[in-house]
Amino acid sequence: MSELAPLIDVPFNHRNICWFCGEPSNMQFCYDKDAYTPHPSLMVPCCEECCKIAKQHRLTSIWDCKMAVKDELMRIYEKHLAIGVNWTKQELEESEFEDRIFGGFKKSGWMMYEIARDRVNFSGWPISINGIVVDDYGYSADFSFDGVNYSSVTQAINFYAKQFVLDKRFLENVISIVGRERFGFAIRVAQINIASVPELKREVLEDLKEEHQQ
Ligand SMILES: [Zn+2]
Repeated sequence: MSELAPLIDVPFNHRNICWFCGEPSNMQFCYDKDAYTPHPSLMVPCCEECCKIAKQHRLTSIWDCKMAVKDELMRIYEKHLAIGVNWTKQELEESEFEDRIFGGFKKSGWMMYEIARDRVNFSGWPISINGIVVDDYGYSADFSFDGVNYSSVTQAINFYAKQFVLDKRFLENVISIVGRERFGFAIRVAQINIASVPELKREVLEDLKEEHQQ
């Protein structure tokens, strides 16, 4: 952590845009590797919003982190995305919304939908550092646990947190320490600590970190 992680290579046509969502970028998100992280520490250009989300959902690799950012964007912009699900552009333009009340919505609604859609769909670009490709070993965001396939680790976390009424943030933190290979273990830790006070949870995380650094 003493040395600054290198910035990933940025193709010419992707200059100054966020690696997560394709919006203009004005910051960099640093991903420091852990023992099990399948890639070196690195930095990616990003927008302010994605940076904030990424910091909270590091999970176990930059690729998992990206899926989590997408999931969060989908959650945050659910209403904007719903515009495209419920309307076509033409319908919206021809709708009989009272102009005085809904005029603004008619004008900006479709645009908000398009922006949110494009951000969620933006797939970033393959990671390389100083011209050397960082192999993702065919990484796929898919995650399967207990015989069920999830589109991402985040989706599995959401599902289990809901099913067992677990502290989602705590479960996520445990997984980012122990790795997604130990998903079952992470769930057990979250279950055991279901009624633990925040201080105790912090201690548990510290202990796990120590264990994993050895
Ligand atoms: Zn972004």
